[in-house]
Amino acid sequence: MSEIETGNHIGGRWSSTVDTLPVVNPANGETIATVPRSSRETVDAAVAAAKAAAGGWAAIPVFERAAMCVAIATAIDAARETIAYTLSCEQGKILAEAQGEVAKAADGFRLAAELVKQMGGKTLPAEDPSKLVMTLRQPRGVYGVITPWNFPVNIPVEYLAPGIATGNAIVWVPAPSTALVACALMAAIERAGLPAGVVNLVIGEGATVGDAVVVHPDVTAIAFTGSTATGQRIAERGAGKPLLLELGGNGPLIVCEDADLDAAAAAAAGGAFFNAGQVCAATGCVLAHASVVDRLCNKLVARAANEVLGDPLHPATTMGPLNNAKVADKVRAHVGDAVAQGARVLHGGRARPDLGSALFFEPTVVRDVTPAMRLCREETFGPVVPVVAFQDEAQALQMALQNDHGLSVGIFTKNIGRGIAMAKAIPAGIVNINAGTTWWELHLPFGGGSGKKSGIGRLGGMHTLEAMTEIKMISVTCG
Ligand code: NAD
Repeated sequence: MSEIETGNHIGGRWSSTVDTLPVVNPANGETIATVPRSSRETVDAAVAAAKAAAGGWAAIPVFERAAMCVAIATAIDAARETIAYTLSCEQGKILAEAQGEVAKAADGFRLAAELVKQMGGKTLPAEDPSKLVMTLRQPRGVYGVITPWNFPVNIPVEYLAPGIATGNAIVWVPAPSTALVACALMAAIERAGLPAGVVNLVIGEGATVGDAVVVHPDVTAIAFTGSTATGQRIAERGAGKPLLLELGGNGPLIVCEDADLDAAAAAAAGGAFFNAGQVCAATGCVLAHASVVDRLCNKLVARAANEVLGDPLHPATTMGPLNNAKVADKVRAHVGDAVAQGARVLHGGRARPDLGSALFFEPTVVRDVTPAMRLCREETFGPVVPVVAFQDEAQALQMALQNDHGLSVGIFTKNIGRGIAMAKAIPAGIVNINAGTTWWELHLPFGGGSGKKSGIGRLGGMHTLEAMTEIKMISVTCG
């Protein structure tokens, strides 16, 4: 890890603090680096740097900002192996997944470069014939971007790329447990030649530095991805500012009696075991028609048995450890709660400290789960497939509607008319028919449905560029 510059990056300079936080490899518990534990005063300095850079960056022609995004994509590609290795060591995901995440991050910058050149305003008719009316899209100014540890490269890029492309200046607070890879990404952005102060990285505890960003009077807008609880706090503390909040999920995957069970099992297991289940759109629970539960469970167990839990850097490994003790405690508690209430563990269900740390948890399949159990009610964020039986479509729909979250849902049925009717009725941001809850591409809208706990607003492609800009109406009196 020694080749990675660590620290805050403010106004184009790396700096550190006396107080530090350890960066721990979740696969073996070793401290691999230390990073700043910044104060609220550090945030003040970062906001001042962003404010100083904001006007100049907004004035750069859009084609030059697009070219900068392409240069950043190229720098990320060039550093792909270093960034991916750091990501794997620090977050715990397997190296192949880490490489994929870094490749997608470069794609995210290229996509923003393309889209910003297409983003336009309008000319509008007016009652007054002397008026010519137009709208422009303008950057919001200084953006606070606060990001989690589960995809610590891709999720920041979902905001940094459109934010840079549209002419905002940014203060970025990454999750402390994946701050090292944030430094690696920041270094690539710096190497591409982004002017000083356009992106400022501040590392520290979220309740200190994240909160300081949210309430800072010179931070004009907030983009946040993380838990529902933190999102709700940010909504209160940042009240009045434009907020893009991408929060927790607990997506049900509905398997009807006519479903292709092989495809459903592949999607359910893939959505639960990818990134060890630490995915906001993971398979939260499988709602399966009672007539297919036995066969589906057999297929899920076979898939779980195929997973190889172990060292994320070993090429044979398919699943690494969980990232931190908080999430590992929650996974154990949810499985324990289900078992105590009568659910049956068909595969896995145990922590595996013998593999190197207490954060390894077996790929797990649990049946006879009910909607009252925590596995079904709450976001587990671990490698667990809970299977709940339903008797008819109305009951499945009712269970899906009762879900507190509204991020993503999967429905497996051969009856597309039925699938579309269910999709329309479920208040989630994404419904995938005959695909898992995790299916999404960078240019497509992503976000929580209204009335639920998965957030507000949409990111993805042009949606993020629009969210990170505001519409200005300009009228010209011509006659
Ligand atoms: P978290 O809410 O604990 O932390 C997210 C970020 O917020 C971190 O950088 C943290 O330091 C910071 N933070 C913590 N307290 C803060 C405060 N009071 N004010 C400002 N910032 C604060 O979430 P996490 O555990 O890092 O991430 C996992 C969660 O993120 C899961 O719930 C997952 O579903 C969600 N998530 C959502 C999406 C999505 O797109 N909807 C994507 C990925 C993850």
